[in-house]
Amino acid sequence: MSDLAARLSAIDDRIADAARLAGRDPGEITRIVVTKFHPASLVRELHALGVREVGENRQQELTAKTAEVSDLDDLRWHFIGQAQTNKASAIRRAADAVHSVDRDRLADALHRAADDDSILDVLVQVNLTDEEGRGGVQPEAAEGLAEHILSLPSLRLRGVMAVAPLDEDPASAFARLRATADAIRAIEPSATWISAGMTGDFAEAIQAGATHLRIGSAITGPRPDRG
Ligand SMILES: *Cc1c(COP(=O)(O)O)cnc(C)c1O
Repeated sequence: MSDLAARLSAIDDRIADAARLAGRDPGEITRIVVTKFHPASLVRELHALGVREVGENRQQELTAKTAEVSDLDDLRWHFIGQAQTNKASAIRRAADAVHSVDRDRLADALHRAADDDSILDVLVQVNLTDEEGRGGVQPEAAEGLAEHILSLPSLRLRGVMAVAPLDEDPASAFARLRATADAIRAIEPSATWISAGMTGDFAEAIQAGATHLRIGSAITGPRPDRG
């Protein structure tokens, strides 16, 4: 077994263990492999190992990589990074889901970028820190943003996304995300996704109800120089 295959299967075992510990079915949890800073060849290796959900956090890298592996047409690309409004069109062309919608103007730009009758999956990114500018809407503004997204017919509101703060126990941060997720699901019952959990905190995220984990380095190995 390659190192990559071994790391992938070790993570999947840990996801299954964490799910069982939380009384959840591992089959209801989607593991997205974050491939940022790694070459498209890694995406190809992951695909050969059965990975179908991949994540990128920068538009240019997303655009370049999706073009390089466009023959792998059953991959689903998740955009998880902070997005500039003027990149919305490029993001929409390359991504199947955008986890990082954190303001009305970005939702509007993604909606305007629809060039056919496709529907883009989007999540409201919630800022779990008290610093503005960290990416994400403050929890108290999340429902308003969700309502706005629901008014845009080319977007499908799927749920919420967050990154745990560095200076807080992830379990308590994810509990706040869960409360926001529940509030949004009360508005739109089909918005069931909770995108949370990275290499260092996916067990806590699973405990808090995460449906989509975004795992990078534990699977891909350390990221090459950001150059
Ligand atoms: C890089 C990144 C991840 C994955 O991080 P790891 O710690 O390598 O698992 C998850 N979410 C976001 C938003 C990221 O930018």
